[in-house]
Amino acid sequence: MIIVMHRGATEPEIQHITKHLTSRGVNVERTTGKQQTILTVIGGSSGNDIASMAAMPGVQEVVRVSSPYRLSARTGHPEDTVITMTDGTSIGGKAPAIVIAGPCSVESEDQLRRTAECIRKAGVRFMRGGAFKPRTSPYAFQGLGFDGLELLKKVSEEFGLFIVTEVMEPAHVPSIAEFTDIVQIGSRNMQNYPLLRQIGNIRKPVMLKRGASATVEEWLMAAEYILSGGNDKVILCERGIRTFEPTTRFTTDISAVPVVKKLSHLPILVDPSHGTGHREYVGSLARAAIASGADGIMIEVHPDPDRALSDGAQSLTFEQFEELMGELVRVGDAVNRPILVEPYHTTAQKTDRPVAVKSV
Ligand code: PEP
Ligand code: MN
Repeated sequence: MIIVMHRGATEPEIQHITKHLTSRGVNVERTTGKQQTILTVIGGSSGNDIASMAAMPGVQEVVRVSSPYRLSARTGHPEDTVITMTDGTSIGGKAPAIVIAGPCSVESEDQLRRTAECIRKAGVRFMRGGAFKPRTSPYAFQGLGFDGLELLKKVSEEFGLFIVTEVMEPAHVPSIAEFTDIVQIGSRNMQNYPLLRQIGNIRKPVMLKRGASATVEEWLMAAEYILSGGNDKVILCERGIRTFEPTTRFTTDISAVPVVKKLSHLPILVDPSHGTGHREYVGSLARAAIASGADGIMIEVHPDPDRALSDGAQSLTFEQFEELMGELVRVGDAVNRPILVEPYHTTAQKTDRPVAVKSV
């Protein structure tokens, strides 16, 4: 960081700051101009340091020159992180863009099986479904819990699908990680640091959704918690941020895709279902996400959205989803980023997950 002292800063003030920093083991280089003194600090700066330095007597301005996140930054890790699933299916880098689809909540075996069949026939390999639901109201459906996870496991094995499901409590992390292929951290828990630390201890891929009011930097700092725990399989997911615009549930921040691609090596997905909150807008934003270079998208699909126990308004019908898949393939071709579409062979069902079917 660079500390610019006020024109009238006194020598004791400059010395005080210099001593304060050197006592913490960082190097300070002093440049004394005719009017002002500038201190260049090398090593060990953090967000807190900057705020406390800026508050010290004699300081005019503190400028940060390096990012506070290290492991999630592209500087120092120039190549894209690619997450490889157990059958070799990859997420990120130059791998085809993935589609994760499924209901907001697991509601019943019939609902899940019908959805799994629809999405698998459309070539999808990743099924989402919430068993532990972070609902705004404590009176709303909270999910089927571990029974829901059992259903996800059963149905996903039947159709050769990878599971993506949310964990909300640190104590549940080891058991949910056993059930799922990708652990989801929801928007509301993006800054739940005990949960992030627990996720850092496992070795399963994790999809970290952006907090509705989080900046990209705060999101990458959250990823840093997981990476610094030793779990390097972090996938980011833009799911819309809170803005002043009421016509959509959230504002899908498509610009986060190129911004994150520049700042970080981690794969980034977009969730236009939560990002818009209305099924009529989901297709546009899904196509925009692929065109913007996202590594995949996550879409809510339900056999009967009007009767869904959560997020029905933003869930696509089976017909809408099939149509969207065709559109995404065409957008992917146009921007030279194919969509992962794997044919569904009924004879390949019933094997232990994963069903290794070659990409087309
Ligand atoms: C979800 O994916 O079902 C969900 C609750 O999303 P978010 O955390 O983005 O609100
Ligand atoms: Mn939902």
